[in-house]
Amino acid sequence: MVVAFYPGSFDPVTVGHLDITARASALFDEVVVGVYDTPSKSLLFTTNERVELFEKACRHLPNVRVIKYSGLTVRYAREIGAGVIVRGLRSGFDFEYEFEMAFMNRKLEPDVDLVCFMTSQDYMFVSASLLKEVAKLGGDIREMVPTNVAEALYAKFGNPVVEG
Ligand code: ADP
Repeated sequence: MVVAFYPGSFDPVTVGHLDITARASALFDEVVVGVYDTPSKSLLFTTNERVELFEKACRHLPNVRVIKYSGLTVRYAREIGAGVIVRGLRSGFDFEYEFEMAFMNRKLEPDVDLVCFMTSQDYMFVSASLLKEVAKLGGDIREMVPTNVAEALYAKFGNPVVEG
């Protein structure tokens, strides 16, 4: 049985994150999505909100569960019995980051390997940080996030959900 750990800030979960989760859930026995408690970037949603938003968005995937975690990602992965860390790649920039991180992680925990999924073409330009800016300015982000996240974003910014 292979457990995969998919860590991230997920502030908030996007259709790109969901696509990676669904593809990982088809490949591995169990996928544990790890919402990182204290990323260095500034956050819009609390950790519990980020967990709840992700949980609701992936309810249709029976072998996926969402938890919050803190501390070293690779150590946490080993603690929960995950043999694989899953990440998504959109660009060369993502690749460079993961490449460097993978070497560090292998040094720390040689038994945990990394599997990267290439983003789907439709989600290549979907970025949580960018879409938060767009939502803040009243733009329509409904194609980039699950429905429950679109509602949470508009609730947060006090904007009405954009009428189609
Ligand atoms: P981080 O973990 O760096 O804080 P995120 O929470 O935004 O970043 O993303 C978690 C993981 O999902 C990362 O591996 C990131 O590259 C990947 N990811 C983010 N957006 C997409 C997307 N649109 N398509 C595929 N993968 C993505």
